[in-house]
Amino acid sequence: MELLKKKIREEGKIIGDSILKVDGFINHQMDVRLFNEMGKEFKERFKGERIDKILTIEASGIGIATIIAQYFDYVPVVFAKKSLASNLDNELYHSNVHSFTKNKDYDVVVSKRFINKGERILIIDDFLANGCAACGLIDIVKQGEAEPVAVGIIIEKGFQPGRKVIEGLGVKVESLAIIDKIENGQVLFK
Ligand code: 5GP
Repeated sequence: MELLKKKIREEGKIIGDSILKVDGFINHQMDVRLFNEMGKEFKERFKGERIDKILTIEASGIGIATIIAQYFDYVPVVFAKKSLASNLDNELYHSNVHSFTKNKDYDVVVSKRFINKGERILIIDDFLANGCAACGLIDIVKQGEAEPVAVGIIIEKGFQPGRKVIEGLGVKVESLAIIDKIENGQVLFK
């Protein structure tokens, strides 16, 4: 998606050799016009697919998923909550996720009321790195006997193994921008 790549080139900030900061238009301040373009693009990529619900993860996924849902006939958006304490609540689906950026593990939880058997669920997240967050969400969808239609990603870091891990679970990945490498302070796309 050219508009997104342009924004990343012009406004993205590189931290170290593998982290891209996009807090000026995605992760802190949000570019709503860009989010709408992302919604149109995902709708085009999933043309003809039945999507019953969108599942994302707090916090950055929420704004993006909410705008995208409007292009999927206003399907409900559910966001997984991150909880540090292992919560043994019987009403929740849990999955353990390792955070790439914070380098710690947390429990991701979703109420059993919001994932139902047979639902076709599109998983949305801002970044794909090692695939831990997306795998946790796929795990939760499967616990609810629903179907993960695909993982929709805004920015995939193609030099990290996330795609392979998710595809290894038999789930499709659709990314709007795929970074091939970060080199000499520049982002190079596939
Ligand atoms: P994964 O679980 O695939 O290893 O990492 C994806 C999660 O880590 C995303 O939900 C995102 O919040 C965070 N993340 C991974 N890489 C980056 C990055 O380069 N920049 C930012 N801002 N977040 C990232």
